[in-house]
Amino acid sequence: MILFIFVDGVGIRSKKENNPFFTEKLPVLRKLLFEEAEPVDAVMGIKGIPQSATGQTSIFTGLNASLINGSHKEGFPNKLLRKLLKEKSIFRYLRDNDKKFTFANGYIIDNLKILKKSRFLSATSYMTIEIGKKVRGLDKIIKGKAVYHDITNLSLIDRKDNKFLKKIEKFIPEYEAYYNKDLLEKIPLIKPSDGAHNLLEISRKNDFTLFEYFKTDMIGHKRDEDKALEVLSDLEEFLKTLLGNFNFNKNTLILVSDHGNIEDLSISGHTKNPVPLFISGYKEEIFQNISYIYDLAHKIKEYY
Ligand SMILES: [Zn+2]
Repeated sequence: MILFIFVDGVGIRSKKENNPFFTEKLPVLRKLLFEEAEPVDAVMGIKGIPQSATGQTSIFTGLNASLINGSHKEGFPNKLLRKLLKEKSIFRYLRDNDKKFTFANGYIIDNLKILKKSRFLSATSYMTIEIGKKVRGLDKIIKGKAVYHDITNLSLIDRKDNKFLKKIEKFIPEYEAYYNKDLLEKIPLIKPSDGAHNLLEISRKNDFTLFEYFKTDMIGHKRDEDKALEVLSDLEEFLKTLLGNFNFNKNTLILVSDHGNIEDLSISGHTKNPVPLFISGYKEEIFQNISYIYDLAHKIKEYY
């Protein structure tokens, strides 16, 4: 099986100035991302700064989505990118080939009909929901059978600055009717290592498990060094636990990003730096000659 960790907004940059990875507190992360991972091109020959919607669509479809779209597209996939995800995503391929696959991230609202109405669907959410796949709701987060995007559930518990809820409020004014408030009150605060164990458990039951982490990109935009270290420390503990408990003889761990951002806090936008692609474990030899982020999906299809 493959456990696929998508980390938004992390590029490879060897300069130490304004680079939060160069602290003694993040040895695992720095080694994994900057030494063991291969640098991969996220610009894909298209003018401008690489962005999330096209970057993620490229990763999950194996197409140069920026070329097809005519430019890099930020945020959420537009109609054209949604079409690519609908027809060519890894999830579509896995479904058509009778593989067991899942998106491990937890959702506040897990009602597919409601989610489908949203314009604010990331590439991962869209490719999951579009094929009618259930998403993991609050009940699953409570039981440790889903991993919330921040890993620890802190933003679900301390909701004052939960941008998600604010966004939900915006696109579904009656949103409160669609999630269970009692469940929200029961969400436990967990350690990043617990999150890793929960994710490992989910991955053992599937041929392909995806987890998406995007606080790296959110913090990169804020240029806040203290916050960056906080977020990266969570990611450090999470990945350390994953690496320490993963069966590399039988399974394959993949980690990739869609564009640079947090590795250069001197600017608030994305960077053109190459992104790290870490692949280790069973059949890792398949994953040779990956130059662009869109090369990866083809190798994953070959894996199965
Ligand atoms: Zn992104």
